[in-house]
Amino acid sequence: MSNFFNILQRRMTASSSRVFMQLDDGSEFSYKQADKLSAQMANKLTSLGLAPGSRITAQVEKSPQAVILFLACMRAGFIFHPLNTAYTLHELEYFLEDAKPSVVVCDPSNLDTVRDLAERHKTPHIETMGVDGKGTLWESLDNCDGNFKTVWRDRNDTALLIYTSGTTGKPKGAMITHRNLAFNSHSMVQVWKWEAEDILVHVLPLFHIHGLCFALLCPIMCGSRILFQQRFSVTRTIELLAQATAMMAVPTVYTRLLGDERFNRTACANIRIFISGSAPMLSETFNEIEQRCGHQIVERYGMSEAQIIASNPIEGIRRAGTVGTAIPQVHLRVCDENGSPVPSGQPGILEVKGPNVFQGYWRNIVATQKAIRTDGYFITGDIVTMDDDGIVTIVGRASDLIVSGGFNIYPKEIEIQLNRIDGISDCAVIGAAHPDLGEGVVAVVVSNTQELGETSVVNALTDTLSGFKIPKKFVFVDELPTNAMGKVEKNALREQYKNVFANETD
Ligand code: AMP
Repeated sequence: MSNFFNILQRRMTASSSRVFMQLDDGSEFSYKQADKLSAQMANKLTSLGLAPGSRITAQVEKSPQAVILFLACMRAGFIFHPLNTAYTLHELEYFLEDAKPSVVVCDPSNLDTVRDLAERHKTPHIETMGVDGKGTLWESLDNCDGNFKTVWRDRNDTALLIYTSGTTGKPKGAMITHRNLAFNSHSMVQVWKWEAEDILVHVLPLFHIHGLCFALLCPIMCGSRILFQQRFSVTRTIELLAQATAMMAVPTVYTRLLGDERFNRTACANIRIFISGSAPMLSETFNEIEQRCGHQIVERYGMSEAQIIASNPIEGIRRAGTVGTAIPQVHLRVCDENGSPVPSGQPGILEVKGPNVFQGYWRNIVATQKAIRTDGYFITGDIVTMDDDGIVTIVGRASDLIVSGGFNIYPKEIEIQLNRIDGISDCAVIGAAHPDLGEGVVAVVVSNTQELGETSVVNALTDTLSGFKIPKKFVFVDELPTNAMGKVEKNALREQYKNVFANETD
């Protein structure tokens, strides 16, 4: 019974006549259909002769069919490995090499290039799924049985592989177990008092835990309806809010909505809860939404490696600029780098322990041992303060992580690519406050030629880096500030360029 899909299926069966996903074109998928389609998809995948625990890598656009693929992977005992569609072939190659999937699912338009890559990496199967969800997987479902006996999995078996970038620039696969997903899903329902009658506007991508594990699994647990938006649009979201009771989003979504005067009390008349996470929400945004729409955002904090960690309360005071308290059964402590607790109210690195914490990094024992202490606490890398009531405020990051528009960007990865460009002799990538994205990427570059301009650098990066990682601002300097050890002083650069995006909205 430990396969988390068993829990989901019980909930889906109890809600079989209810609407699961309502699409922009007015069409609907009921819970009954989702159950049957996921059985058909599970039969299709199983017919490929894969062993339980095989990875299914999916670099596909957001679609209801992609949701079914996720459910089917769990049901059939495979590991779902979603990838950002913005990743280039160069980046995809790394994931095929590291995750060693048995199946790679790509957009039909990329079939030829991905096939070459898959052959080189000996990926046995390649399937397609397009923007409309159609492709080889979906087209073959009619011939597949609509019944499937869920494959047994231990609760500590991996259900989901989510890659997070590391400080070395090489992403690491966080192994999220069936137990992690079950705990996370039960917790969200409990903490946010989710109900069958809730209706959620789904605006987030499916390759990140926020859109996949939070905004999808929480509604399924209650048989509630999802207003499924394939691509975020301000206008459409405002229209959908009128029919909805809830939304989960990153701060950038909320700030973009605030840019439209129709985002107001009338549009939000039926809303019960607005949840924000994945990046810090400015107090100004929190206050503006309260004034304009009459709602206090419920800010929560989580990460791929530990799912949901803390949340502001549904009842009681929601404090702007804080992420609330630990959710039930999750233990938090604030420590120095050696793991010794710091005094209450002092900044330190947040460590977390509980049924939410992942199994470790995929085939990377060294990174796992560095990240999880022998007493089971996972070192988040986030610098926080925690007051006597257990309220957590995130004040910075131990690493150089940049969170831009809800995406995590590790400077090292960009610096590696910049350093490969002829004419660049040194560089440092930092984040600076950005009015729309939270943080924007800034590249401080030392060039040894007059010819090198911003356009040629951007062109050179476009082949290897996703668009969201390409710096929004380039600053050309004669030399970088370094300390006695020759290390670039990034704090000095962050201070110097902290206002480069002031007055920008893109
Ligand atoms: P990810 O694994 O992509 O979900 O990223 C997790 C990281 O996002 C955390 O370690 C934090 O640095 C950041 N994060 C998530 N939620 C919040 C929040 N509410 N406020 C500030 N940072 C957040």
